[in-house]
Amino acid sequence: MHIQGISLLALAEEFGTPLYVYDTQKMLEKLTLLKQSFQSQKLKIKYAAKALSNISVLGFFKKQDIGLDTVALEEIHLGLEAGFAPEDILFTPNCVSFEEIKEAVALGVVINIDNIAILEQFGHYYGSSVPCCIRINPHLVAGGNSKIQVGHIDSKFGISVLQMRHVLRVVKAHQIKVTGLHMHTGSDILEADIFLRGAEILFEAAMEFPDLQFLDFGSGFKVAYKSGDITTDIAELGEKIGKAFEDFCQQYGRSLEIWFEPGKYLVSEAGYFLVAVNTIKQTPATVFAGVNSGFNHLIRPMLYDAYHEIINISNPEGTPRLYSVVGYICETDTFGVDRKITEIREGDVLCMRNAGAYGFSMSSQYNSRLRPAEVLIYNGKAHLVRKRETMEDILKNQILIDYEKA
Ligand SMILES: *Cc1c(COP(=O)(O)O)cnc(C)c1O
Repeated sequence: MHIQGISLLALAEEFGTPLYVYDTQKMLEKLTLLKQSFQSQKLKIKYAAKALSNISVLGFFKKQDIGLDTVALEEIHLGLEAGFAPEDILFTPNCVSFEEIKEAVALGVVINIDNIAILEQFGHYYGSSVPCCIRINPHLVAGGNSKIQVGHIDSKFGISVLQMRHVLRVVKAHQIKVTGLHMHTGSDILEADIFLRGAEILFEAAMEFPDLQFLDFGSGFKVAYKSGDITTDIAELGEKIGKAFEDFCQQYGRSLEIWFEPGKYLVSEAGYFLVAVNTIKQTPATVFAGVNSGFNHLIRPMLYDAYHEIINISNPEGTPRLYSVVGYICETDTFGVDRKITEIREGDVLCMRNAGAYGFSMSSQYNSRLRPAEVLIYNGKAHLVRKRETMEDILKNQILIDYEKA
């Protein structure tokens, strides 16, 4: 397997395993498709940093002239470090303190408010001097996996669309300048029609806010994890939402910007996770391939039952056999069950696909294991963008008490 002409196996040899590899060409391809699908609108894309927050990935998207969606003060700092202008960064936190919001305002980013209590504090503190965006929960149940649905009635995200009268009271009382309305109903929304239903709810709410500059439809584009998976048809989405948006703008009396915050869509397919096989273990039930990684490096299969295709890049021509691919963590950390993979031998390098989004960014030091290195391929060249951790990183902030003296 090659990326921009570079062999994945050669990268595993050069940089060692476990290793995350990212293909900027793929990111660009996705970005271009999204842009083309909304050509006739004033489109702004805010890359959702949490999907893959390596500073060189952020820098790559900065170079493509798009903005950033952040959910933590630390992500804002990373974005600024990567070169984003504060006004191109949207801050969409949930359940953070008002202190954190004040710090974000001081940094000059756009604030997205998802709680009436915070909106009141914001209005009380800033009045009309700092504009903001309001995150609405349209109560759409989107996507099949309940762990990544965030628009339902029990969700902690957003201000319920049923509370709009209260929102308007607060906005009026404090003369808050609301320049954007936002919704994000979670990952893995399949269809343009669900998006459209959410859009309609946002359009209706928007009529009450005269100062709007943009409507932000969040993300939730569904990505293919295995062949045959249904994905969001971006062109269809562009056509349907684009048309509805134009109709809305006419009714609103002004043309607004249309924003999206894709994370997974831009980086998932661009990522490859390379691991080495430590052992082959036959049990009465199955054949395990045990690799030098676990949910400390890629937690999606265990957390979300996510499917990641696994390929033996050391033996691509071997006879396919059935394997359960598991990690080395003392915990159930199964990457895949009953996978047909070309014969696996000790030392072979396996490649897990679609590992760009929520792979490294959700990794941990569980079992006091080191986090992997990250390599980014740009212009046909491999760049190390994060060094593999060392024992020093594990010990860095720990303090051993001197029990003889304490
Ligand atoms: C996580 C998140 C996104 C990105 O979601 P993806 O499924 O990765 O595209 C966008 N907006 C907000 C507010 C988020 O929390």
